[in-house]
Amino acid sequence: MPKTLEDMYWELYEWYQLNVIGGAKALEKDLKGLESKGLTREEAIKSLYVSVFGRERFEVPREDPLEASLQHLRRSGAWGLLLTALLTILTLIAFLASPSLGVLFIIFLALSIGGIAGVQRRRTVPWSFSETLKFDGMGWVEVSKVAEETVKQYSEFLVEDLKHSLEGSTLTVEFPASTKVLGDEKQLVTVDLGLFRIKATFSRSSDDLVVNVAYSCAPPEYYAEQAAEAFRKYVKAFRLSLKRAVDEVAEKAEVYREVASLLKAIESKGIIIREVKCPRCGAPVEIPRKGHVTRCRYCGATITISDIRDILRSALDSFRSS
Ligand SMILES: [Zn+2]
Repeated sequence: MPKTLEDMYWELYEWYQLNVIGGAKALEKDLKGLESKGLTREEAIKSLYVSVFGRERFEVPREDPLEASLQHLRRSGAWGLLLTALLTILTLIAFLASPSLGVLFIIFLALSIGGIAGVQRRRTVPWSFSETLKFDGMGWVEVSKVAEETVKQYSEFLVEDLKHSLEGSTLTVEFPASTKVLGDEKQLVTVDLGLFRIKATFSRSSDDLVVNVAYSCAPPEYYAEQAAEAFRKYVKAFRLSLKRAVDEVAEKAEVYREVASLLKAIESKGIIIREVKCPRCGAPVEIPRKGHVTRCRYCGATITISDIRDILRSALDSFRSS
């Protein structure tokens, strides 16, 4: 379900206020610009929205299906509470009818509550959720790099020890899900929620990168409520990690391409550059063929591929002006 025009307009409005000099005035100016090209106001808002936030956000439904799935998980543990409530009401009725019968019911109630909790702690609820994430125009990025970067980003979000493997174009990530609950002595206790598994399969659809993600875990029924909270965090963090990874990989590739074309442009002037000067100490540093960063062998300074691009840019400028 696409967003309404009004939602899109207000999201743009907020974004312009925060990010563009001129704020709301600049937004109107950009919209008028599109309208002058023959777009209706509606088309102008949609087009600007997609160019600012990407089609991905445009197509994301407002109601996240993840919430419905988590709600389902939460309800699966609710029978324990309902049964306890029912037994409590029966006990009260028994008390009103006859106090001696009531005492009998209280004993029964106490045993039942313990029994229900025991059953719910032992029983697990299988939970799973799948979604498709699409990255517009990103079909060209190297899947193995995106997968590797996703794992890196994800492990920064979670303190847990991640296990991961990449087979073909399927990334599997596993870690022990857990949450903290208040224990009997009012201290925080870590509760094991089972093994959380993420399977992300990468594919290309025309120019786009498509990722089918399946999340699954089987938490104890007793902690269904807490599990739902934890799983929301896990899913949202994975989405964000994936997005950051795609951005990161694409950005690096862009810089590499620029470095390559700068070297070519300099070569066309009859100069071949294999080394640049270390920005810190001036020692020669070889331009890396692979990897994002290199280190000066003399002073240990870290030199990124973006630094090298900047050095080459200014070198080319000085060749042109001389
Ligand atoms: Zn140096």
